[in-house]
Amino acid sequence: MNKKTFKDVDVKGKKVLVRVDFNVPIDEGGNITDDTRIKAVLPTINYLVSHKAKVILCSHLGRPEGMFNPKFTLAPVAKRLSELIDQPVYMASDVIGDSAKELSANLKAGEIMMLENVRFHKEEEENDPRFAADLANLAEIYVNDAFGTAHRAHASTAGVACYLPAVAGFLMSSEIVAMSKVLDNPKPPFVVILGGAKVSDKIGVITRLLSKANTILIGGAMANTFIAAKGGKLALSRFEKDKLEVAKKILDEADRKNVKIVLPVDFVVASEFAPDSKKKVTNSYDVPDGYQALDIGPKTIRLFKAEIKNAATIVWNGPMGVYEFPRFKKGTMKIAKYVATSKAVSIVGGGDSISAVNASGYASRISHISTGGGATLKFLEGANLPGVEMLLDKD
Ligand code: ADP
Ligand code: MG
Repeated sequence: MNKKTFKDVDVKGKKVLVRVDFNVPIDEGGNITDDTRIKAVLPTINYLVSHKAKVILCSHLGRPEGMFNPKFTLAPVAKRLSELIDQPVYMASDVIGDSAKELSANLKAGEIMMLENVRFHKEEEENDPRFAADLANLAEIYVNDAFGTAHRAHASTAGVACYLPAVAGFLMSSEIVAMSKVLDNPKPPFVVILGGAKVSDKIGVITRLLSKANTILIGGAMANTFIAAKGGKLALSRFEKDKLEVAKKILDEADRKNVKIVLPVDFVVASEFAPDSKKKVTNSYDVPDGYQALDIGPKTIRLFKAEIKNAATIVWNGPMGVYEFPRFKKGTMKIAKYVATSKAVSIVGGGDSISAVNASGYASRISHISTGGGATLKFLEGANLPGVEMLLDKD
């Protein structure tokens, strides 16, 4: 990576503002239901603590829309973090106010504090320079470890870097290093697996990977749009009528570039979009009236398996079907297994794709699971991420 990281600066005795992504799911009782995002930042926090930095954590949580709202306080996150690292995490009652200033001024080397939800200020998402400067005033060094928000130019993810020496944290740098390694020089055969809800969300990703991949396997509702573009009959299946031309263009482009696109040959279809719906397997180009495709069928699974087995590099984004319904998760779970057990270097990214791979039990055998949703897609598109662009270049 051409950006400086937390290891390139001397943090000893310095106040270090660390932007993290602690946007964790919290239930009605105020309990954190998944602490993956907290654990993901521990390497950076542990390093800073053991190198005697004064650690000031900053994150957003949910969508408080620029106002203080106790529903979105980071206090439960501070508590959970404190349990995980077995050390106090001092919680400020504001972001740039008296509480934050006093706590940060009195912080000792190796101690940790947390600012309140940075999105309690509307200036955060506006990337307001005054607000960014006020944040910067709390510290002497800025570490960005929030890969999940790196595609947003907000005050705490980008603006603050104008006022402090800015470097990447462990999570940020490992995401970028792992994904660049694969994308800059993918070992062929490079197989891309795409699925999920919509073509429109992923046009950028498809377009970029078309010039890198050897084979693209398409499942999920995304495949429906391609099949419709080829004249298939989809009955009640979800697809995007306004993206048929885009889908055709992509298919033509793939032809020209000699990229093999593999579409489903069969589907598991249902009479209703419901977990307990009756199901059957049909030809993917002839879905019976009254039915809709909710998963790829067994022939398609075999077809995809053969391509995955042969791959040296795999990038996967988007479930193969409605994996949230146990009856329609088989395609996604099988693909997770084949990707994990293949000899290929594999990257999985996307919010739902990560949930699906975690549910499959094969997550530990994926080479890199990217923690970002939108940020990962932007990275796969080849777009510059403002949260990364703003960091100091390596000498
Ligand atoms: P990711 O979050 O990994 O980028 P997406 O958000 O694009 O993935 O897509 C995931 C969603 O797509 C899931 O909620 C899943 O139920 C839905 N989906 C997949 N296949 C179908 C289908 N055939 N019909 C309707 N929805 C589908
Ligand atoms: Mg999603």
